[in-house]
Amino acid sequence: MINRDTSLILIVDDDLSNIEIMNAALESEYEIIFATSGKQAIEITRKYAPDLILLDVMMPVMDGYKVCECLKADINTSGIPIIFVTALKDDMQAEIKGLQVGAIDYITKPINPPVVQMRVRNHIELQCARKKLRHLAVTDSLTDLSNRRHFDEILQSELNRLSRLHHPLSLIMLDVDFFKNFNDIHGHVMGDACLKRVAYTIKESLHRVADFAARYGGEEFACILPNTELIGAVAIAEQIRVNIEGLKIPHGGSQVSDYVTASLGVFTISGYFKSLNETVELADKQLYKAKEKGRNRVCFAELLKNDD
Ligand code: GH3
Ligand code: MG
Ligand code: MG
Repeated sequence: MINRDTSLILIVDDDLSNIEIMNAALESEYEIIFATSGKQAIEITRKYAPDLILLDVMMPVMDGYKVCECLKADINTSGIPIIFVTALKDDMQAEIKGLQVGAIDYITKPINPPVVQMRVRNHIELQCARKKLRHLAVTDSLTDLSNRRHFDEILQSELNRLSRLHHPLSLIMLDVDFFKNFNDIHGHVMGDACLKRVAYTIKESLHRVADFAARYGGEEFACILPNTELIGAVAIAEQIRVNIEGLKIPHGGSQVSDYVTASLGVFTISGYFKSLNETVELADKQLYKAKEKGRNRVCFAELLKNDD
């Protein structure tokens, strides 16, 4: 079991004695995993997403340059810093080539443990700072859900991917009912606490790995459900609605319930190319229908191409 409180480092070398030296230099500070070939390095990187890779340049079949190119071309692994470890001492061309294919730094063999320790420490610190910054940039600070910026990124990439494949994408838009009255009666602090609980409930109501929940803004939330047909998405939306009502948060200013409730709009698109804004508008239209019909309910529609 890998403990991710500690940074994880992947050491790649076809010579076990090199792995042993680097492991001895680093194991007291980091979790270490190994690979002895390029192919294995790529598999392990995809599976464990290490924080840093120490990559041998000279390996049979697939050398370090090819491994680096491959990892940098994949959006899921492109952000992982790679330090090349090479016996090609004083070879400026090799160093340039390494940096060109995306390596962040260079260490030469024979391995000098203090040099490895210091270089690794610097790059791990930078990587932790990058991760924190990224987290802040895509997270809503009140609810800890993804924010609108992250929602836009994910929806755009899923629309591109799924419309190409003619697979369905469902979108749920959710708005808390009479929330202005809630704030007026119970105060802003209670309002914030309520939004946190609603956010947590929405997140807990989603089960698939690819399902995505975000705070869209104010008391509005949104869920992206890739590869989900309308019937499945409506079931999830209804479950979210029931779960929010089930929190039994007293609402003194609601005209539809004694407790906090939400209205939800669901829209499923399959086989059509629609822009991000158009897709959100289609789900929003259903949300407004749910408001008009009396709130605390789910309304839905879909746009399907039958010939796919
Ligand atoms: P409806 O049922 O039609 O959605 O009515 P509503 O009152 O919920 O809608 P309206 O858009 O009029 O009001 C939304 C309220 O949500 C107003 C705003 O003060 C409150 N709100 C938005 N963001 C926050 C927040 O971060 N914290 C708190 N406490 N309140 C918020
Ligand atoms: Mg609103
Ligand atoms: Mg509202």
